[in-house]
Amino acid sequence: MRKANKCMICGARADEQTTLIRKNNLCICDGCIDFLYHSLSNHPYELDDEEDIEDFFDTEEEVKESPKAKSNINFNLTPSEIHNKLSEYVVGQEYAKRVLSVAVYNHYKRIKNNLYMKSDIEIEKSNILLIGATGSGKTLLARTLAKILNVPFAIADATTLTEAGYVGEDVENVLLRLIQAADFDIDKAEKGIIYIDELDKLGRKSGNPSITRDVSGEGVQQALLKILEGTVANVPPQGGRKHPQQEFIQFNTTNVLFICGGSFEGILETVAKRHGEKSIGFNKVELDKIDEKKLYQEITHEDVKKYGIIPELVGRLPVIAPLSVLEVEDLVKILTDPKNAIIKQYKKMFKMDDIDLEFTDDALLEIAKAANKEKTGARGLRAIIEGMMLDVMYEIPNLNNVKRCIINSDCLTHKAKPIIEFEKKVG
Ligand code: ADP
Repeated sequence: MRKANKCMICGARADEQTTLIRKNNLCICDGCIDFLYHSLSNHPYELDDEEDIEDFFDTEEEVKESPKAKSNINFNLTPSEIHNKLSEYVVGQEYAKRVLSVAVYNHYKRIKNNLYMKSDIEIEKSNILLIGATGSGKTLLARTLAKILNVPFAIADATTLTEAGYVGEDVENVLLRLIQAADFDIDKAEKGIIYIDELDKLGRKSGNPSITRDVSGEGVQQALLKILEGTVANVPPQGGRKHPQQEFIQFNTTNVLFICGGSFEGILETVAKRHGEKSIGFNKVELDKIDEKKLYQEITHEDVKKYGIIPELVGRLPVIAPLSVLEVEDLVKILTDPKNAIIKQYKKMFKMDDIDLEFTDDALLEIAKAANKEKTGARGLRAIIEGMMLDVMYEIPNLNNVKRCIINSDCLTHKAKPIIEFEKKVG
Protein backbone atom coordinates (compact mmCIF):
# COMPACT_ATOMS: atom_id res chain seq x y z
CA MET A 1 0.00 0.00 0.00
CA ARG A 2 1.27 3.49 -0.81
CA LYS A 3 2.13 5.74 2.07
CA ALA A 4 0.49 9.16 2.21
CA ASN A 5 3.12 11.85 1.76
CA LYS A 6 1.21 14.82 3.04
CA CYS A 7 -0.90 15.81 6.01
CA MET A 8 -4.47 14.64 5.54
CA ILE A 9 -5.81 17.79 7.17
CA CYS A 10 -3.87 20.71 5.78
CA GLY A 11 -1.94 19.09 2.96
CA ALA A 12 1.47 20.06 4.41
CA ARG A 13 4.45 18.04 3.33
CA ALA A 14 7.42 17.36 5.56
CA ASP A 15 10.14 19.95 5.63
CA GLU A 16 12.43 21.58 8.20
CA GLN A 17 9.44 22.95 10.12
CA THR A 18 6.95 20.15 9.58
CA THR A 19 7.06 16.58 10.76
CA LEU A 20 4.56 14.06 9.47
CA ILE A 21 3.24 11.59 12.02
CA ARG A 22 1.88 8.34 10.60
CA LYS A 23 -0.35 5.85 12.35
CA ASN A 24 -2.11 3.07 10.49
CA ASN A 25 -3.65 4.84 7.52
CA LEU A 26 -3.47 8.26 9.08
CA CYS A 27 -0.86 10.86 8.21
CA ILE A 28 -1.04 14.15 10.05
CA CYS A 29 1.50 16.93 10.54
CA ASP A 30 2.70 18.07 13.96
CA GLY A 31 1.05 21.48 13.48
CA CYS A 32 -2.40 19.96 13.00
CA ILE A 33 -1.88 17.57 15.91
CA ASP A 34 -1.01 20.52 18.07
CA PHE A 35 -4.10 22.34 16.85
CA LEU A 36 -6.33 19.32 17.40
CA TYR A 37 -4.91 18.73 20.83
CA HIS A 38 -5.80 22.26 21.90
CA SER A 39 -9.18 22.09 20.22
CA LEU A 40 -9.97 18.75 21.83
CA SER A 41 -9.20 20.14 25.26
CA ASN A 42 -12.13 22.57 24.87
CA HIS A 43 -14.15 20.52 22.51
CA PRO A 44 -17.95 20.29 22.90
CA TYR A 45 -18.03 16.53 22.48
CA GLU A 46 -16.02 14.42 24.87
CA LEU A 47 -13.75 11.52 24.22
CA ASP A 48 -14.61 8.37 26.19
CA ASP A 49 -11.21 7.86 27.50
CA GLU A 50 -8.15 9.95 28.07
CA GLU A 51 -6.22 7.08 26.53
CA ASP A 52 -7.87 7.72 23.21
CA ILE A 53 -5.94 10.94 23.04
CA GLU A 54 -2.72 9.27 24.10
CA ASP A 55 -3.24 6.66 21.43
CA PHE A 56 -3.75 9.35 18.88
CA PHE A 57 -0.36 10.83 19.71
CA ASP A 58 1.55 7.57 19.58
CA THR A 59 4.46 8.40 17.35
CA GLU A 60 5.94 4.96 16.83
CA GLU A 61 5.82 5.35 13.09
CA GLU A 62 7.07 8.89 12.93
CA VAL A 63 8.76 9.43 9.61
CA LYS A 64 10.68 12.50 8.69
CA GLU A 65 10.69 13.07 4.98
CA SER A 66 13.36 14.70 2.92
CA PRO A 67 13.65 18.42 3.71
CA LYS A 68 13.62 18.91 -0.03
CA ALA A 69 9.98 17.83 -0.15
CA LYS A 70 7.97 20.72 -1.51
CA SER A 71 6.78 22.61 1.55
CA ASN A 72 3.12 23.37 1.84
CA ILE A 73 0.77 25.84 3.47
CA ASN A 74 2.28 27.51 6.47
CA PHE A 75 -0.68 26.95 8.78
CA ASN A 76 1.15 27.30 12.01
CA LEU A 77 1.97 30.98 12.23
CA THR A 78 0.44 33.04 15.03
CA PRO A 79 -0.99 36.50 14.29
CA SER A 80 2.09 38.19 15.71
CA GLU A 81 4.36 36.03 13.58
CA ILE A 82 2.32 36.91 10.50
CA HIS A 83 2.53 40.58 11.48
CA ASN A 84 6.30 40.42 11.91
CA LYS A 85 6.79 38.71 8.60
CA LEU A 86 4.58 41.26 6.86
CA SER A 87 6.74 44.00 8.36
CA GLU A 88 9.79 42.63 6.56
CA TYR A 89 8.19 43.76 3.31
CA VAL A 90 5.54 46.34 4.15
CA VAL A 91 6.39 49.63 5.85
CA GLY A 92 3.94 51.21 8.31
CA GLN A 93 0.22 50.33 8.03
CA GLU A 94 0.41 48.84 11.52
CA TYR A 95 -3.33 48.79 12.10
CA ALA A 96 -4.06 47.09 8.78
CA LYS A 97 -1.31 44.53 9.44
CA ARG A 98 -2.81 43.73 12.83
CA VAL A 99 -6.32 43.33 11.44
CA LEU A 100 -5.05 41.24 8.54
CA SER A 101 -2.86 38.95 10.61
CA VAL A 102 -5.73 38.09 12.96
CA ALA A 103 -8.15 37.61 10.06
CA VAL A 104 -5.77 35.37 8.15
CA TYR A 105 -4.92 33.34 11.26
CA ASN A 106 -8.63 32.78 11.86
CA HIS A 107 -9.25 31.94 8.24
CA TYR A 108 -6.80 29.06 8.22
CA LYS A 109 -7.95 27.93 11.66
CA ARG A 110 -11.45 27.81 10.21
CA ILE A 111 -10.27 25.66 7.31
CA LYS A 112 -8.76 23.19 9.76
CA ASN A 113 -11.92 23.16 11.85
CA ASN A 114 -14.28 22.64 8.93
CA LEU A 115 -12.14 20.05 7.23
CA TYR A 116 -11.48 17.88 10.18
CA MET A 117 -13.35 18.61 13.38
CA LYS A 118 -16.69 16.87 13.78
CA SER A 119 -18.26 20.00 15.10
CA ASP A 120 -21.84 21.20 14.64
CA ILE A 121 -20.53 24.69 14.49
CA GLU A 122 -19.33 25.54 11.04
CA ILE A 123 -17.19 28.65 11.20
CA GLU A 124 -18.10 31.06 8.44
CA LYS A 125 -15.60 32.57 6.09
CA SER A 126 -14.37 36.10 6.73
CA ASN A 127 -13.10 37.70 3.56
CA ILE A 128 -11.28 40.96 3.90
CA LEU A 129 -11.73 44.47 2.53
CA LEU A 130 -8.64 46.70 2.30
CA ILE A 131 -9.44 50.38 2.04
CA GLY A 132 -6.65 52.82 1.32
CA ALA A 133 -5.29 55.30 -1.17
CA THR A 134 -3.51 54.28 -4.37
CA GLY A 135 0.01 53.07 -3.75
CA SER A 136 -0.44 52.64 0.00
CA GLY A 137 0.38 48.92 -0.11
CA LYS A 138 -2.93 47.04 -0.52
CA THR A 139 -1.73 44.73 -3.27
CA LEU A 140 1.63 44.37 -1.59
CA LEU A 141 -0.03 43.26 1.66
CA ALA A 142 -2.20 40.66 -0.07
CA ARG A 143 0.70 39.35 -2.16
CA THR A 144 3.03 39.21 0.83
CA LEU A 145 0.47 37.32 2.90
CA ALA A 146 0.24 34.65 0.22
CA LYS A 147 4.02 34.44 0.14
CA ILE A 148 4.31 34.10 3.92
CA LEU A 149 1.65 31.39 4.06
CA ASN A 150 2.99 29.72 0.94
CA VAL A 151 -0.40 29.61 -0.75
CA PRO A 152 -1.16 30.31 -4.41
CA PHE A 153 -2.10 33.89 -5.22
CA ALA A 154 -3.99 35.59 -8.03
CA ILE A 155 -4.94 39.19 -8.72
CA ALA A 156 -7.98 40.46 -10.57
CA ASP A 157 -9.07 43.95 -11.43
CA ALA A 158 -12.77 44.35 -10.69
CA THR A 159 -13.13 46.87 -13.52
CA THR A 160 -12.20 44.26 -16.14
CA LEU A 161 -14.73 41.73 -14.86
CA THR A 162 -18.11 41.38 -16.47
CA GLU A 163 -21.29 39.49 -15.87
CA ALA A 164 -21.44 36.18 -17.70
CA GLY A 165 -22.53 36.75 -21.27
CA TYR A 166 -21.00 40.20 -21.64
CA VAL A 167 -17.76 41.15 -23.37
CA GLY A 168 -14.95 41.11 -20.86
CA GLU A 169 -13.57 38.69 -18.33
CA ASP A 170 -15.78 36.16 -16.56
CA VAL A 171 -15.35 35.83 -12.83
CA GLU A 172 -14.41 32.15 -13.37
CA ASN A 173 -11.27 33.24 -15.20
CA VAL A 174 -10.01 34.69 -11.95
CA LEU A 175 -10.31 31.24 -10.41
CA LEU A 176 -8.40 29.82 -13.36
CA ARG A 177 -5.56 32.21 -12.62
CA LEU A 178 -5.40 30.87 -9.08
CA ILE A 179 -5.39 27.30 -10.38
CA GLN A 180 -2.56 28.21 -12.74
CA ALA A 181 -0.64 29.77 -9.87
CA ALA A 182 -0.97 26.41 -8.07
CA ASP A 183 0.29 24.50 -11.12
CA PHE A 184 -3.16 22.94 -11.48
CA ASP A 185 -3.00 21.41 -7.98
CA ILE A 186 -6.72 22.02 -7.30
CA ASP A 187 -6.46 21.07 -3.64
CA LYS A 188 -3.79 23.69 -3.10
CA ALA A 189 -5.55 26.32 -5.22
CA GLU A 190 -8.73 25.89 -3.17
CA LYS A 191 -6.83 27.18 -0.14
CA GLY A 192 -5.26 30.11 -1.97
CA ILE A 193 -5.75 33.86 -1.86
CA ILE A 194 -7.39 36.03 -4.54
CA TYR A 195 -6.94 39.78 -4.47
CA ILE A 196 -9.67 41.76 -6.22
CA ASP A 197 -8.52 45.30 -6.82
CA GLU A 198 -10.67 48.39 -7.45
CA LEU A 199 -13.80 46.98 -5.86
CA ASP A 200 -14.93 50.55 -5.26
CA LYS A 201 -15.21 51.12 -9.02
CA LEU A 202 -18.14 48.70 -9.09
CA GLY A 203 -20.10 51.05 -6.90
CA ARG A 204 -21.24 54.47 -7.87
CA LYS A 205 -18.73 56.59 -9.67
CA SER A 206 -18.59 58.86 -6.65
CA GLY A 207 -19.36 58.72 -2.98
CA ASN A 208 -22.42 60.84 -3.60
CA PRO A 209 -25.45 58.77 -2.56
CA SER A 210 -27.73 60.71 -4.91
CA ILE A 211 -26.00 59.27 -7.98
CA THR A 212 -27.58 55.97 -8.88
CA ARG A 213 -25.50 52.84 -9.05
CA ASP A 214 -23.94 51.65 -12.26
CA VAL A 215 -26.07 48.68 -13.28
CA SER A 216 -23.34 46.58 -14.93
CA GLY A 217 -21.24 47.11 -11.81
CA GLU A 218 -24.02 45.56 -9.80
CA GLY A 219 -24.08 42.50 -12.09
CA VAL A 220 -20.38 41.94 -11.46
CA GLN A 221 -20.97 42.39 -7.76
CA GLN A 222 -23.55 39.61 -7.90
CA ALA A 223 -21.11 37.34 -9.74
CA LEU A 224 -18.40 38.12 -7.20
CA LEU A 225 -20.81 37.50 -4.34
CA LYS A 226 -21.29 33.94 -5.51
CA ILE A 227 -17.62 33.03 -5.49
CA LEU A 228 -16.93 34.98 -2.31
CA GLU A 229 -19.60 33.21 -0.29
CA GLY A 230 -18.43 29.80 -1.45
CA THR A 231 -19.64 27.85 -4.44
CA VAL A 232 -18.54 25.05 -6.70
CA ALA A 233 -17.69 26.91 -9.89
CA ASN A 234 -17.18 25.47 -13.34
CA VAL A 235 -13.88 26.83 -14.54
CA PRO A 236 -12.99 26.59 -18.23
CA PRO A 237 -9.47 25.10 -18.23
CA GLN A 238 -8.30 27.22 -21.15
CA GLY A 239 -9.87 30.43 -19.93
CA GLY A 240 -11.97 32.60 -22.18
CA ARG A 241 -15.65 32.08 -22.79
CA LYS A 242 -17.55 29.05 -21.59
CA HIS A 243 -19.14 26.81 -24.16
CA PRO A 244 -21.32 23.76 -23.53
CA GLN A 245 -19.03 21.12 -25.09
CA GLN A 246 -16.15 22.13 -22.90
CA GLU A 247 -15.01 20.09 -19.91
CA PHE A 248 -14.85 22.22 -16.81
CA ILE A 249 -12.69 22.10 -13.72
CA GLN A 250 -14.93 21.87 -10.67
CA PHE A 251 -13.54 24.37 -8.24
CA ASN A 252 -14.81 24.89 -4.72
CA THR A 253 -14.28 28.45 -3.49
CA THR A 254 -15.37 27.78 0.10
CA ASN A 255 -11.83 27.94 1.47
CA VAL A 256 -10.38 30.53 -0.86
CA LEU A 257 -9.58 33.73 0.98
CA PHE A 258 -10.78 36.75 -0.96
CA ILE A 259 -9.14 40.05 -0.22
CA CYS A 260 -10.84 42.97 -1.93
CA GLY A 261 -9.25 46.37 -2.18
CA GLY A 262 -10.18 49.86 -3.22
CA SER A 263 -9.37 53.49 -2.56
CA PHE A 264 -13.03 54.40 -1.99
CA GLU A 265 -12.23 57.99 -2.75
CA GLY A 266 -14.35 60.38 -0.74
CA ILE A 267 -15.38 57.77 1.81
CA LEU A 268 -13.58 59.69 4.56
CA GLU A 269 -15.98 62.58 4.04
CA THR A 270 -18.85 60.29 5.01
CA VAL A 271 -16.96 59.28 8.12
CA ALA A 272 -16.07 62.87 8.91
CA LYS A 273 -19.69 63.90 8.52
CA ARG A 274 -20.60 61.32 11.10
CA HIS A 275 -18.06 62.96 13.38
CA GLY A 276 -19.62 66.29 12.59
CA GLU A 277 -23.05 65.11 13.52
CA LYS A 278 -21.70 64.04 16.85
CA SER A 279 -19.65 67.12 17.64
CA ILE A 280 -21.32 70.45 18.26
CA GLY A 281 -20.44 73.31 15.93
CA PHE A 282 -18.75 71.09 13.42
CA ASN A 283 -17.58 72.82 10.30
CA LYS A 284 -15.20 72.30 7.38
CA VAL A 285 -12.21 73.73 9.27
CA GLU A 286 -12.64 71.22 12.05
CA LEU A 287 -12.98 68.46 9.50
CA ASP A 288 -9.53 69.26 8.14
CA LYS A 289 -8.09 68.99 11.61
CA ILE A 290 -9.34 65.45 12.16
CA ASP A 291 -6.54 62.94 12.05
CA GLU A 292 -6.93 61.09 8.74
CA LYS A 293 -5.47 57.87 10.16
CA LYS A 294 -8.15 57.78 12.83
CA LEU A 295 -10.86 58.45 10.26
CA TYR A 296 -9.75 55.47 8.21
CA GLN A 297 -10.11 53.26 11.26
CA GLU A 298 -13.69 54.39 11.69
CA ILE A 299 -14.91 53.33 8.26
CA THR A 300 -17.92 51.07 8.75
CA HIS A 301 -19.80 48.61 6.57
CA GLU A 302 -22.55 51.19 6.27
CA ASP A 303 -20.09 53.63 4.68
CA VAL A 304 -19.09 50.97 2.16
CA LYS A 305 -22.76 50.29 1.34
CA LYS A 306 -23.35 53.99 0.78
CA TYR A 307 -20.55 53.84 -1.74
CA GLY A 308 -22.68 51.54 -3.86
CA ILE A 309 -21.46 48.11 -2.86
CA ILE A 310 -24.49 45.82 -2.52
CA PRO A 311 -25.30 44.87 1.08
CA GLU A 312 -24.92 41.12 0.41
CA LEU A 313 -21.37 41.63 -0.84
CA VAL A 314 -20.52 43.94 2.05
CA GLY A 315 -21.84 41.21 4.34
CA ARG A 316 -19.33 38.81 2.83
CA LEU A 317 -16.48 41.16 3.66
CA PRO A 318 -16.79 41.30 7.43
CA VAL A 319 -13.21 42.38 8.04
CA ILE A 320 -12.29 45.93 7.06
CA ALA A 321 -8.57 46.74 7.16
CA PRO A 322 -7.92 50.42 6.51
CA LEU A 323 -4.57 51.67 5.24
CA SER A 324 -3.47 55.22 5.84
CA VAL A 325 -1.89 57.59 3.37
CA LEU A 326 1.89 57.19 3.36
CA GLU A 327 3.83 60.17 4.73
CA VAL A 328 7.23 61.35 3.44
CA GLU A 329 9.01 59.51 6.30
CA ASP A 330 7.26 56.29 5.31
CA LEU A 331 8.34 56.75 1.71
CA VAL A 332 11.97 57.18 2.78
CA LYS A 333 11.74 53.92 4.73
CA ILE A 334 10.12 52.18 1.75
CA LEU A 335 13.14 53.16 -0.34
CA THR A 336 15.59 51.49 2.00
CA ASP A 337 14.06 49.17 4.60
CA PRO A 338 12.02 46.31 3.06
CA LYS A 339 13.80 43.08 2.19
CA ASN A 340 13.63 43.88 -1.50
CA ALA A 341 13.73 47.68 -1.17
CA ILE A 342 14.25 49.63 -4.41
CA ILE A 343 17.58 51.10 -3.28
CA LYS A 344 18.85 47.64 -2.36
CA GLN A 345 17.94 46.46 -5.86
CA TYR A 346 19.86 49.30 -7.54
CA LYS A 347 22.86 48.76 -5.28
CA LYS A 348 22.89 45.13 -6.22
CA MET A 349 22.76 45.95 -9.92
CA PHE A 350 25.76 48.29 -9.58
CA LYS A 351 27.61 45.78 -7.42
CA MET A 352 27.43 43.31 -10.30
CA ASP A 353 29.74 45.75 -12.10
CA ASP A 354 31.84 46.07 -8.93
CA ILE A 355 30.62 49.60 -8.23
CA ASP A 356 29.39 50.87 -4.87
CA LEU A 357 26.21 52.87 -5.32
CA GLU A 358 25.36 55.32 -2.56
CA PHE A 359 22.40 57.58 -1.98
CA THR A 360 22.86 60.42 0.50
CA ASP A 361 20.14 60.92 3.12
CA ASP A 362 19.04 64.18 1.54
CA ALA A 363 18.75 62.46 -1.84
CA LEU A 364 16.41 59.89 -0.31
CA LEU A 365 14.37 62.66 1.28
CA GLU A 366 14.03 64.54 -2.02
CA ILE A 367 12.97 61.39 -3.85
CA ALA A 368 10.33 60.73 -1.17
CA LYS A 369 9.12 64.33 -1.35
CA ALA A 370 8.83 64.16 -5.12
CA ALA A 371 6.81 60.93 -4.89
CA ASN A 372 4.62 62.46 -2.21
CA LYS A 373 3.76 65.36 -4.55
CA GLU A 374 2.48 62.94 -7.15
CA LYS A 375 -0.10 61.62 -4.68
CA THR A 376 0.32 58.04 -5.87
CA GLY A 377 1.81 56.74 -2.63
CA ALA A 378 4.92 54.65 -3.06
CA ARG A 379 4.07 53.92 -6.68
CA GLY A 380 5.99 56.89 -8.04
CA LEU A 381 9.26 56.09 -6.26
CA ARG A 382 10.66 53.70 -8.81
CA ALA A 383 9.88 55.94 -11.79
CA ILE A 384 11.57 58.89 -10.10
CA ILE A 385 14.73 56.89 -9.44
CA GLU A 386 14.68 55.40 -12.95
CA GLY A 387 14.55 58.94 -14.34
CA MET A 388 17.46 60.06 -12.17
CA MET A 389 19.60 57.06 -12.94
CA LEU A 390 19.01 56.69 -16.66
CA ASP A 391 22.02 58.68 -17.86
CA VAL A 392 24.46 57.27 -15.35
CA MET A 393 23.33 53.71 -16.04
CA TYR A 394 23.85 54.41 -19.74
CA GLU A 395 27.31 55.90 -19.34
CA ILE A 396 28.91 53.91 -16.55
CA PRO A 397 29.44 50.64 -18.45
CA ASN A 398 31.70 52.61 -20.86
CA LEU A 399 33.95 53.83 -18.06
CA ASN A 400 36.87 51.93 -16.59
CA ASN A 401 37.86 51.63 -12.95
CA VAL A 402 34.71 53.18 -11.48
CA LYS A 403 34.72 52.52 -7.75
CA ARG A 404 31.77 54.44 -6.43
CA CYS A 405 28.74 56.36 -7.65
CA ILE A 406 27.12 58.83 -5.28
CA ILE A 407 23.62 60.24 -5.73
CA ASN A 408 22.86 63.39 -3.77
CA SER A 409 19.85 65.67 -3.62
CA ASP A 410 21.22 67.89 -6.44
CA CYS A 411 20.79 65.00 -8.82
CA LEU A 412 17.05 65.40 -8.37
CA THR A 413 16.58 69.07 -7.57
CA HIS A 414 19.10 70.45 -10.12
CA LYS A 415 19.42 67.47 -12.41
CA ALA A 416 23.13 67.37 -11.49
CA LYS A 417 25.21 64.38 -12.55
CA PRO A 418 25.98 61.80 -9.88
CA ILE A 419 29.46 61.92 -8.38
CA ILE A 420 31.65 59.21 -9.82
CA GLU A 421 34.83 58.11 -8.04
CA PHE A 422 37.50 56.06 -9.73
CA GLU A 423 39.83 53.39 -8.41
CA LYS A 424 43.35 54.73 -7.88
CA LYS A 425 45.68 53.14 -10.38
CA VAL A 426 48.51 51.24 -8.75
CA GLY A 427 52.02 52.21 -9.97
P1 ADP B 1 -2.05 49.74 -3.88
O1 ADP B 1 -2.46 48.32 -4.18
O2 ADP B 1 -2.45 50.19 -2.52
O3 ADP B 1 -2.45 50.73 -4.93
P2 ADP B 1 0.59 48.65 -4.14
O4 ADP B 1 0.59 47.64 -3.06
O5 ADP B 1 0.42 48.15 -5.54
O6 ADP B 1 -0.45 49.77 -3.85
O7 ADP B 1 1.94 49.50 -4.06
C1 ADP B 1 2.64 49.96 -5.18
C2 ADP B 1 4.13 49.77 -4.94
O8 ADP B 1 4.56 50.65 -3.90
C3 ADP B 1 4.46 48.36 -4.46
O9 ADP B 1 5.03 47.62 -5.46
C4 ADP B 1 5.44 48.55 -3.34
O10 ADP B 1 6.75 48.38 -3.83
C5 ADP B 1 5.30 49.96 -2.90
N1 ADP B 1 4.62 50.12 -1.61
C6 ADP B 1 3.39 50.62 -1.42
N2 ADP B 1 3.09 50.68 -0.13
C7 ADP B 1 4.14 50.17 0.53
C8 ADP B 1 4.42 49.93 1.91
N3 ADP B 1 3.54 50.26 2.87
N4 ADP B 1 5.60 49.38 2.24
C9 ADP B 1 6.51 49.04 1.26
N5 ADP B 1 6.30 49.25 -0.04
C10 ADP B 1 5.14 49.80 -0.42
